[in-house]
Amino acid sequence: MDVTASSLSPRRSTRQISVGSVKVGGDAPISVQSMTTTKTADVEGTLQQIYALAGAGADIVRCTCNDQGAAEGLAQIVPRSPVPIVADIHFHVEMALAALEAGVHGLRLNPGNLRKPEEICLVASEARDRGVPIRIGVNAGSLHPDIYKRFGGATPEALVESARIELAYFEEVGFSDVKISVKASSVATMIAAYRLASETFEHPLHLGVTEAGPLPGGLLKGTAGIATLLAEGIGDTLRYSLTADPVEEARAGRQLLEALGLRERRGLDLIACPSCGRAEVDVIKVANEAQAALMELDIPIQVAVMGCVVNGPGEARHADLGIAAGKKRGHLFIQGQIVSVVPEDEMVQALVDEAKKIARDGVAARLAARDLGAEAEAEADRALLLDVKGTDVNHASERIERIRRRTQG
Ligand code: SF4
Repeated sequence: MDVTASSLSPRRSTRQISVGSVKVGGDAPISVQSMTTTKTADVEGTLQQIYALAGAGADIVRCTCNDQGAAEGLAQIVPRSPVPIVADIHFHVEMALAALEAGVHGLRLNPGNLRKPEEICLVASEARDRGVPIRIGVNAGSLHPDIYKRFGGATPEALVESARIELAYFEEVGFSDVKISVKASSVATMIAAYRLASETFEHPLHLGVTEAGPLPGGLLKGTAGIATLLAEGIGDTLRYSLTADPVEEARAGRQLLEALGLRERRGLDLIACPSCGRAEVDVIKVANEAQAALMELDIPIQVAVMGCVVNGPGEARHADLGIAAGKKRGHLFIQGQIVSVVPEDEMVQALVDEAKKIARDGVAARLAARDLGAEAEAEADRALLLDVKGTDVNHASERIERIRRRTQG
């Protein structure tokens, strides 16, 4: 059975805000965020990365605004960016004000290190007047020392309390255009904090496991936390925090949402069998080659690479397109129906060619154009393989025959 959004808990209702052209919260699609790693003062380098992030699936991109050069860079980056830009602010109130002056679509403030109430109110007033939303970005690693002491550590309750106090300052000046994050590097703490935040606030929540680390562990931690909450209906926007090229963050965010059925597929979904003793080809090698070649096409398609023709086409019949390895040949199939048989060394190219044709003509037209002799050829390969190692791999019938000869003789 396909896992779709309808299999998950209903999404919790939140207030909707707009980060530039991207709506966050309410019934808006869950958005993907990432952050540039370039110096923001390097306008061309930063824009290049922003375009790469947008291409990989980021709906919103954050850039640090840590000095005057960064703020001036933002003034040039914002009008040329393909996606809304959020300025990341730590410690310096004047950087928040400079970023607003640069025209950013959102601010992220860390309540742990921008602490003076009058400064917080000043930024909130300025953001309110400009119609720019702010994320209250609480982080377990930089919690306000007083709160840390009061709660005896960076507990889920402490993280939510930090956001609540910041929100109260905003409300003093009539500002409520807010989203909230309560990130921790501990997945368990983060899950508990977001559950509590979801009960406490009506504002949209930005999900993330902070400082998750390099691949693949960072990806696992991020997914464990974010996916658990999304399945519970919690979360309106998300960011993977990976110690990797940020393109990986954007790609992971997008793929997670697509896998959960929360965003439409817009790129490749490659599925492949794990391989086993029955495999007629190096499945890992073919799957990797196919993934690299098909990703280039940027086509929303699910493609299967299966190690044997005995089980492959049937097990992957839900895929738009697939290939299964036979006796030195590949059986190309569309939605489980064999459409052609190709030599083994042409399997990847056959997938690429057919994916392009499906994108151009559609599945029905490609099924109608199938090689009518292919099914019979494929059946012959399947029969041969079953004969060789399929139905009686343990040679049970031979053993039974020998037992009978002994007992009857
Ligand atoms: S499709 Fe074939 S090779 Fe792949 S895991 Fe299944 S039985 Fe094994």
